[in-house]
Amino acid sequence: MNIFRNIKYAKEEASRMVELIKKPESEVTLEERQRVAKEVAENFAGYINKGFLEYRKSVTEAGEFAVAEWKGQGSIMTDALGREFIDVLGGFGIYSAGIRHPKIVAAVKAQLDRSPQYSQEMLDPLRAHLGKVLAHLTPGDLQNMFFINSGTEAIEGAMKLAKFYTGKSGFISTTAGFHGKTLGSLSLMGKSVFRKPLMPLIGNVRHVPFGDADALEQQLAIAEQVGDDIAAFVAEPVQGEAGAVVPPDDYWRRVRQICDKYGVLLIADEVQTGLGRTGKLFGLDNWDVVPDIMALGKALGGGVMPISAFITNPKIWKVMEPNPFMHTSTTGGNPLACAAALAYIDVMIEEDLPAQAAEKGEYVMKALGGLQKKYPHILKDYHGMGLLIGMEFPTDETGYQVASGLFKKKVLTAGTLTNAKAIRIEPALNIPYNLLDEVLNRLEDTFKSI
Ligand SMILES: *Cc1c(COP(=O)(O)O)cnc(C)c1O
Repeated sequence: MNIFRNIKYAKEEASRMVELIKKPESEVTLEERQRVAKEVAENFAGYINKGFLEYRKSVTEAGEFAVAEWKGQGSIMTDALGREFIDVLGGFGIYSAGIRHPKIVAAVKAQLDRSPQYSQEMLDPLRAHLGKVLAHLTPGDLQNMFFINSGTEAIEGAMKLAKFYTGKSGFISTTAGFHGKTLGSLSLMGKSVFRKPLMPLIGNVRHVPFGDADALEQQLAIAEQVGDDIAAFVAEPVQGEAGAVVPPDDYWRRVRQICDKYGVLLIADEVQTGLGRTGKLFGLDNWDVVPDIMALGKALGGGVMPISAFITNPKIWKVMEPNPFMHTSTTGGNPLACAAALAYIDVMIEEDLPAQAAEKGEYVMKALGGLQKKYPHILKDYHGMGLLIGMEFPTDETGYQVASGLFKKKVLTAGTLTNAKAIRIEPALNIPYNLLDEVLNRLEDTFKSI
């Protein structure tokens, strides 16, 4: 059906949803809820991308009404019809402090009553203050930074910075690595399906297997031999999207040495691993390695606002100082986002989220060990660090049976029909143990039923 301009109807529909948003929860009628659940799938199909609907368990496994996201608190997500799910997907790492952490929500609401965006001329205190706070958290002398809105933008900025500083154009990244889907970061992507249709991407990008320091050294030696100048090596401390892949223990220290030997910058993509997820403040802290540039995103906004950053040391940052307009963003680091980030950091330290991740990660891994012994034909392997844990299944089909089985038992995980061989468990770092136990029970029930 083709849709043509109808301003009166657009206005009515906009007002209707705004009124619904403003309605107190207790006054939203069953009829209104059912309408939301019914319309969400229609609207997705009509105006967003109907392709998504085939992949979402919330449509295919939910019965008559699709699961329409409605409200959340902590590790519980509730749909428009009041069905409660335990969230162990964590928005792929956004919800490190849980959904709607009261302190983060309060900070953002309060800032909303002062000023939501910046003027673009006056100096904005929150952005500068967040810079100071992060500088005191990051390893080594990482302390100069730029704020944007998404992980992929953080990688784009890191790549530009590496090119400015080194005057070189090449990059090396890892197979199966994930750095975002805009053209620059997509060039670093380690998966053909997303990359190939868009070739040529940025030139002179090579890939090496993740976890193989010798392969990196070999590529750098070859690049040098043939005259391809490499600006930086980019990798995730623990590969997230690939299914929580942990490298060999000596990998990162060797990577640091190799990068130094060849005069290549080390860019750590901490968009998913940063700020507590792996059991330390940052992923590379697990190996005491300091990168030259670090990208942050996801959890930085406390699950309330989008915000990301790329951060470096004063020596490298110097190239950005003569003309700071070489990289800009109108909405990056806006006051609402910075309020959320400051509140997240406050909560992260107060609740010691990294330690919670380490402890609960061990607990889950131990339980998965027990399950693997009992169901080796289903759970092929499991690995991870902190609360970034991947379960591996023999086939996409088995993985999908697990993901959809869990969904029917009201546990929210990743896993689509075509991408379920590895499913991540990535809950809020402050998820209570009783909910973790509940998830593990439902996981075993699901294994049993397969
Ligand atoms: C999610 C992710 C990105 C991309 O972040 P977006 O906010 O989706 O652009 C980049 N790198 C890593 C490691 C990620 O996990």
